[in-house]
Amino acid sequence: MQRRTFINKSSAAAIAIGLTPSIFFQEDNDYTITELMGKEDIELFGKDINLRKEAHDAFLEMKKAAYNDGIDLKIVSSFRNYDRQRAIFERKYLTYTVDDEMNPLDAIDKIIEYSTIPGTSRHHWGTDIDVVDGYRKVDGDVLVPHKYEGEGPYVDFKNWMDENSETYGFYLVYTNDSKRRGFKYEPWHYSYAPLSIPMLEQFRSKNIASLLLREDYEGAEHFTMGFLRSYIQNNILDINRNLL
Ligand SMILES: [Zn+2]
Repeated sequence: MQRRTFINKSSAAAIAIGLTPSIFFQEDNDYTITELMGKEDIELFGKDINLRKEAHDAFLEMKKAAYNDGIDLKIVSSFRNYDRQRAIFERKYLTYTVDDEMNPLDAIDKIIEYSTIPGTSRHHWGTDIDVVDGYRKVDGDVLVPHKYEGEGPYVDFKNWMDENSETYGFYLVYTNDSKRRGFKYEPWHYSYAPLSIPMLEQFRSKNIASLLLREDYEGAEHFTMGFLRSYIQNNILDINRNLL
């Protein structure tokens, strides 16, 4: 992204004039695979925000601007670790296979309409948020697409985000594009691009499918290499082009 280009150019310039380039690499972190899979404790900032420092600061700037326009950006979910994602996956898996008597593969397909396979959630990164307008009183689930369109309570929020979020580095991940595969449209899920772009780049460079194949929890025994490869292609990589 632009920021990285800037950093790389700065580093080259620093070398050219004989400065130590290390300070210019601060933003250009290497992330470990366990970190990218939500298996490490990372430092998070802000009560009810829980994001990495840079994403946290950008979110607060965006929140201030939204306030001035009568919208209260309220985070419903941000960082989520591997164990939490695993609990969500297993709960859904058992509901579908035991209570609803679905066959395991159909159950997994249904889970991955909206939920990720543990270790692959962008919420593991401390860069992504599910966000709504806290000023609106809403009955029932808030993370349902119809509340963000037509006469829905979050239409003003959505219009504001369409207009402004990218200025602050936040991009919609699962766009409303009929040609997009993978996760369904999520008008509430935004990602802080200056951090999440390099993170995705590093994540996809690892052999994720073989790592996931070795995991051990309810339902994981039904994963095959073919399934995991297409899951990565569709659900991890078929997202808003601006985040690749
Ligand atoms: Zn989300």
